Amino acid sequence: MQIGGLDKTSLIDYPGKIAAVVFAQGCNWRCPFCHNPELVMPRCYQKPIPEETVMEFLQNRTQQLDAVVISGGEPTLQSDLPGFAAAIKDLGYLVKLDTNGTNPEMLRVLLSEGLVDYVAMDLKGPLANYQQLAGARVDADALRTSIWMIKNSGLDHEFRTTVVPGLHTLRELKAMGELVRGAQRYALQDFVSDFCLRESLRGRPAFPLKTLNKLRPFMERRVKIFEIRSNEDAVPMPNGRGTPLDELEDDGDEDLFE
Ligand code: SF4
Repeated sequence: MQIGGLDKTSLIDYPGKIAAVVFAQGCNWRCPFCHNPELVMPRCYQKPIPEETVMEFLQNRTQQLDAVVISGGEPTLQSDLPGFAAAIKDLGYLVKLDTNGTNPEMLRVLLSEGLVDYVAMDLKGPLANYQQLAGARVDADALRTSIWMIKNSGLDHEFRTTVVPGLHTLRELKAMGELVRGAQRYALQDFVSDFCLRESLRGRPAFPLKTLNKLRPFMERRVKIFEIRSNEDAVPMPNGRGTPLDELEDDGDEDLFE
């Protein structure tokens, strides 16, 4: 595996577990709101961490950690991912995969061979305008297949969306709620704009929490667990200025806030 980073302890990346997070280097997308350019843009890559170093660390932490999250970048691009996940499972860890859903064939291998215990898929937006949000060509059928496989995997799973004022409207978030209908968990995540890929988005405020909370009843009728994940590094919407909430309440979609 080409590994670009290792977070030795995380309490937030695997729900209810203490986990290490391994960041795969490289991604096939260029989401403008991505805040990991060092894992996505080759010119920003750090020197890779040897896989042996990561495995040695994990061998020594079996008493302290419950799980390993394989994140990125996009880990499913790396053909040796199944072997890497198997080696981690052999140490007794739970394995969570974070993916953008572009490689359902790899997902099928991981699921059928029992190499993951939890799958989290990013959902960038409604499938109709995915290309703009992913910053690359998108195979919508592959995404549909991944969504279906994850929902029907029988494993713990989640879908999550980083919500960006100007790129997402609440109407689109509602369409995404339909896309993940029946899922175990759906999370809306604050946009953190400090190091994001597209420079023109840097410093842009996140959606106010009260805006996102308007979606709670709608989402809770479609998924088992709906979460709003705020981030203390997000830029707050300035007080006293027009907010997306003002605009969206007037957009004529009367059942948006049903
Ligand atoms: S946010 Fe987009 S560009 Fe960044 S790692 Fe995920 S899929 Fe790749």
